[in-house]
Amino acid sequence: MSSTEQFPPSWGRYPKVKARLVVPVFWRDDVPKLAAYEQSVLPYAYGRSYGDSCLNEDGIALDVSHLTRFISFDEQKGLLRCEAGVSLSDILELIVPRSWFLPVTPGTQYISVGGAIANDVHGKNHHKTGTFGRHVTCFELLRSTGERLLCSSTENEQLFRATIGGLGLTGVILWAEIQLKPIVSPLIAMERIRYGSLAEFVTLSNESDQDFEYTVAWVDCLARGKELGRGLFMRGNHDTATYDAKRPAKKLPLIVPFDMPSFVLNTLSMKAFNEMCYHAQRPQHISKTVPYAPFFYPLDAIQHWNRMYGKRGFLQYQCVVPPTDGSAVMRDLLHCISRSGEGSFLTVLKKFGDLPSPGMLSFPRPGLTLALDFPYNGQKTLHLFDTLDTIVRQSGGCIYPAKDAHMSAESFQAYYPQWEAFTHYIDPKFSSSFWRRVTYPLSQPAIPVNG
Ligand SMILES: Cc1cc2nc3c(=O)[nH]c(=O)nc-3n(C[C@H](O)[C@H](O)[C@H](O)COP(=O)(O)OP(=O)(O)OC[C@H]3O[C@@H](n4cnc5c(N)ncnc54)[C@H](O)[C@@H]3O)c2cc1C
Repeated sequence: MSSTEQFPPSWGRYPKVKARLVVPVFWRDDVPKLAAYEQSVLPYAYGRSYGDSCLNEDGIALDVSHLTRFISFDEQKGLLRCEAGVSLSDILELIVPRSWFLPVTPGTQYISVGGAIANDVHGKNHHKTGTFGRHVTCFELLRSTGERLLCSSTENEQLFRATIGGLGLTGVILWAEIQLKPIVSPLIAMERIRYGSLAEFVTLSNESDQDFEYTVAWVDCLARGKELGRGLFMRGNHDTATYDAKRPAKKLPLIVPFDMPSFVLNTLSMKAFNEMCYHAQRPQHISKTVPYAPFFYPLDAIQHWNRMYGKRGFLQYQCVVPPTDGSAVMRDLLHCISRSGEGSFLTVLKKFGDLPSPGMLSFPRPGLTLALDFPYNGQKTLHLFDTLDTIVRQSGGCIYPAKDAHMSAESFQAYYPQWEAFTHYIDPKFSSSFWRRVTYPLSQPAIPVNG
């Protein structure tokens, strides 16, 4: 490991911080005594969070990715109980052949159940089913005192709500139980529609909400003028035709073998890529039936795609802005981005629904959500993020901690005014680089970096 690498890594590989020690946990009944560590502790699973919410500079990274045992599966009711390090990919392998599916899934299957709860993740069906946490029936939480608490909506209810979306700060989730969703087929009946402007996106989204479980759009973030916000709108449902159970051959993923040099990623290459994607689809409207993996996880087909952004790493920006004036605010954000030339290969736009998120600090709320990556170009990138933050704050929107490596303490506390109430449920031994960044500067000036 070079002195400029992260350890353990987050997906964006920025900021470059290192834990003092990585402590693996192999058995849920044999977790090291957390109170005995001098430094603060933070659970770490697959590091698929982009910024520093899964990092604990100079502290203990408690590697929970070895807790991968299934505990029980009620095939009649679709109730699955497993250890918190089990990945969504392993769950899908078990449940899809038995006609069940994840109630909510993010854009990668390589995350753990614990990570899905700690960030209360959302997916393309947010408008229909809300966040992952809504489908968690209970879990066991280990506190640094050694106490093990069963948490559900009726038992230790406040700790249950604090842990969902609680950024790993309330203790270690040892196992969890999830209510799955029945399906008839592993295929998705999908449509892809090329649209020409932000207004067209809003119309398509509104039209599709009722009849389609999954909706999302890819946006050409460098388009300007009348074409601002243009892109490809995807919508789909689980196929209802009975499936003949031939197993599709597993395709080997492509691999980005090394860090791309930074000159590969410039405004011209990004613009060319975005133009090409937009025009690649010749018919304006395509309908087809596809396996679930390429529909939900197109990026998982390229292993280590984060290396495309080079050694300096990259940042993701994901915000949600309220539905009133949502289009106008989104127009301002896209304007800013397209003027900056700091483009992104993958820009995603989606309308969140109004089902309440169960977590105290959950990110999703009604409105339009935009997510995009930026290669880290020093002050230029950070300055752009400051400008975007000002627009989001003025609109009453907020930023997603799981994707963040930049927001100020002032911004976080404005986005999440409930953060102070949440602090009552934090385990005193737990901390993260993210949490220190967004709270200590305002609340406790004298606390050292290693918590
Ligand atoms: C390609 C890609 C697409 C994505 N798409 C989406 C998306 O569509 N929607 C979305 O919401 N997110 C999305 N994400 C973000 C990702 O889903 C979250 O960051 C997720 O939490 C990562 O889980 P992980 O298992 O890798 O956990 P880590 O990143 O290692 O940790 C995440 C948080 O969970 C805590 N944690 C982990 N395990 C435990 C445990 N056992 N007990 C207590 N706390 C724990 C950690 O302390 C940390 O705070 C995407 C990420 C990638 C790379």
